[in-house]
Amino acid sequence: MRRNKILQIRAHHLLCIQGFQGYGYDEPFTYNLKKIHSIFFNQKQIRLIISNDVICQKCPFSCGNNKYCLKKGFDARILDLKILKILGLKPERAVKLNQLLFYSNQDKKKTIKLKKLCKDCEWNSKCLWFLS
Ligand code: SF4
Repeated sequence: MRRNKILQIRAHHLLCIQGFQGYGYDEPFTYNLKKIHSIFFNQKQIRLIISNDVICQKCPFSCGNNKYCLKKGFDARILDLKILKILGLKPERAVKLNQLLFYSNQDKKKTIKLKKLCKDCEWNSKCLWFLS
């Protein structure tokens, strides 16, 4: 799950985790996401990555340790790259969680751009971050 004890998540999962309120693709996925959600806000730093992460590992659109998302019509990597660009961050760099939470919630210019990217997400009616 971690490299150098720093939690690594796909860049767009920074938003999904903040919006999570118990919904998911299936039971194993949701159970796993719940576990990650429960430790996420205790992290000092997070590494945003552009390949499959600990959340993807239990996703029906991934196969175990597959590096790629197999969901049709959804390019997770491109979405991750767009999010990193808005945040002004490079992939794989350790960033303070507080900074990520600030960028994705209080930095108005950034949050407006991020929400535009999520406007077609199938989960946005259940995403607390998107609805906030
Ligand atoms: S495999 Fe794709 S759909 Fe599943 S959690 Fe990862 S990015 Fe999302």
